[in-house]
Amino acid sequence: MICPATRDEALTQLADFVPRAPLYARDRNHVIPGHPAVSRLSPAIRHRLVTEDEVAAAVLAVHSPDRVEKFVQEVYWRRYWKAWLSLRPEVWHDYLAALRALPDSPAVHRVEAADSGNAVIDHFARELVGTGYLHNHARMWFAAWWVHEARLPWEAGADFFFRHLLDGDPASNTLSWRWVAGLQTPGKTYLARRSNLEKYLAPDLLESLAQGLPDFENPRSYLPDIPARVPITRPELPAAEPDFQLTSGLWIHDEDLSPESSPIATHEFTAIIVGDNPSSRDAFAVPTAKRAWLDAALTDAATRAGRHWQLPTARVDGPDLAASLLSWAQNTGIQQIVTLRPEVGALDDALPQVTTKLAAAGIRLALVDRPQDLALRPLATAGFFQFRERMLKRTKPTESAKNPR
Ligand SMILES: Cc1cc2nc3c(=O)[nH]c(=O)nc-3n(C[C@H](O)[C@H](O)[C@H](O)COP(=O)(O)OP(=O)(O)OC[C@H]3O[C@@H](n4cnc5c(N)ncnc54)[C@H](O)[C@@H]3O)c2cc1C
Repeated sequence: MICPATRDEALTQLADFVPRAPLYARDRNHVIPGHPAVSRLSPAIRHRLVTEDEVAAAVLAVHSPDRVEKFVQEVYWRRYWKAWLSLRPEVWHDYLAALRALPDSPAVHRVEAADSGNAVIDHFARELVGTGYLHNHARMWFAAWWVHEARLPWEAGADFFFRHLLDGDPASNTLSWRWVAGLQTPGKTYLARRSNLEKYLAPDLLESLAQGLPDFENPRSYLPDIPARVPITRPELPAAEPDFQLTSGLWIHDEDLSPESSPIATHEFTAIIVGDNPSSRDAFAVPTAKRAWLDAALTDAATRAGRHWQLPTARVDGPDLAASLLSWAQNTGIQQIVTLRPEVGALDDALPQVTTKLAAAGIRLALVDRPQDLALRPLATAGFFQFRERMLKRTKPTESAKNPR
């Protein structure tokens, strides 16, 4: 598997990458089969088999900051997108509404089936569907072609990526597509140019995909109406703190698969349940290969949590998340379910219904935040570089993150 689905494998992949991290700035843009110049840790980071801090701290423990600046900066980009969307969750909801309103499009189906008529695009569509991963540059070229050359709706492209990418993420994916389309930085689009493909595509690939290059010869921006600046609508997260006087159970989900290294690590629980929202897998038509990766990652989290808390772990089962959590809580005599707060996205959207159903049976749902997430979200009021400056002033990798095992 190109992207590890367990924490141990992710840490091993991180350790293998650390000696190569100083070469990242020079080599990272090259799209080479197997992707040796990048870490391929994004699914592990997105689902928090490892945290952003652990990854940054691992390279900074061995190299001076200036030698690995570019790599650490890319990890900060993820932080920035997450914090930005957390302050403006309606961007996610608007995207979903626009996606639902789109008419069925044979042209979209053709591209997704690697039958676009462009060899480069078909190659990356096959790679995406086959592996659940695409190099960053391939994502940019693909999205730019989709929006500016094929003039297909960006929301449908974002949905194609979100469904198949193992790292599919409401923040990084939606906001990157918006950026390519010219919505995120109003008036600025990303265009994929033939010269750029010729520079960064591996020579063998370039030769075999040559038929697709003319489409990238003279790209022209398909500019949307200049959008209004997106206001901050959620400056504060709704409070839902745990009350540890209550008998508590721990719910582990795919938004954060390392609760044993979170603020709840030292709390006592009487039972543990592990699982994501089965109905959102169906709603987003998550393909079988991605389901298998998620299940492997959830199983890994269950094993680690079982060891950490010395408890057996149950699994969310059946199609209804709220019903599954409720019956588990009732069977185990739990008064409160504690979980790490999901970021903006499908699981977060399901929480009101879960909370209501549990509350009707007298059971609380409590949400816990990682301090680093809370510290960073207010910093994403403007652009990335401002965020980065503010972040560097405020945060230093923790000692425990320097030695993750
Ligand atoms: C159209 C488009 C869609 C994208 N969708 C997603 C997505 O759904 N999920 C996702 O995690 N990333 C997404 N990205 C960002 C980026 O492409 C991936 O994070 C990166 O390619 C993952 O590969 P890697 O782990 O080898 O990255 P590396 O180059 O090794 O970087 C290390 C880590 O930094 C973070 N990172 C790197 N580049 C970016 C970036 N440009 N933006 C945000 N974080 C970054 C990732 O967590 C990554 O694992 C998207 C980019 C584009 C252009």
